[in-house]
Amino acid sequence: MSYVIPSWGLTSLPVVDNEDRFPVRRIYCIGRNYAEHAKEMGMDERDPPFFFMKPTDAIVQNGAKIPYPPQTKNYHYEGELVVAIGGSASSISVADANNCIYGYGVGLDMTRRDVQIAAREMGRPWDMGKGFDNSAPCSEILPVTKIGHPEEGRIHLAVNGETKQDADIKDMIWNVPESISYLSGLVTLEAGDLIMTGTPAGVGPVISGDTMVVSVEGVTELTCTIA
Ligand code: MN
Repeated sequence: MSYVIPSWGLTSLPVVDNEDRFPVRRIYCIGRNYAEHAKEMGMDERDPPFFFMKPTDAIVQNGAKIPYPPQTKNYHYEGELVVAIGGSASSISVADANNCIYGYGVGLDMTRRDVQIAAREMGRPWDMGKGFDNSAPCSEILPVTKIGHPEEGRIHLAVNGETKQDADIKDMIWNVPESISYLSGLVTLEAGDLIMTGTPAGVGPVISGDTMVVSVEGVTELTCTIA
């Protein structure tokens, strides 16, 4: 196969204890999935889940330095558990949802909060607040065969060593199987899809020179620095 413009490589993430990598197909994100974060964003905590997306090539590898993005004065971190999908799932039940999971990682849903809120207030799409260059730092993937399905555990984010987010993934409003079941009723999930499962309370801004470290107990840790 040849193309009329230069082609590009698949975006991928390393897999722990494996030379082969996880190819990234699409990045789905869940909005407001922890009650305390929904409250800090001024929203009802019992709304049904909703989803937005980031472009696949917004992925940033663990340990990378990323530029401060243009068109924002309020650039926020959101530390999140990431689910890596390993098989097709369409309208899958909550009981079966774990079967389509390949593994888990830790991610950052980097957000131009000022752009997102302006869009929200005008009833416009969030894309330019959420889906911009380097907006999806993600750790290596840990397969289910190694870590199982984490249902509880501390999720923690520090900026320059200072704790900013400290919660437990068991406090998600919609847990992982419920989220997958719901999302798979909207779109067919496919192997390679990532789901960023939402952030707990404590979101805030970062500036040039800041280093973020996010961890989910029983999964792994992700480090990212703003250049
Ligand atoms: Mn988020």
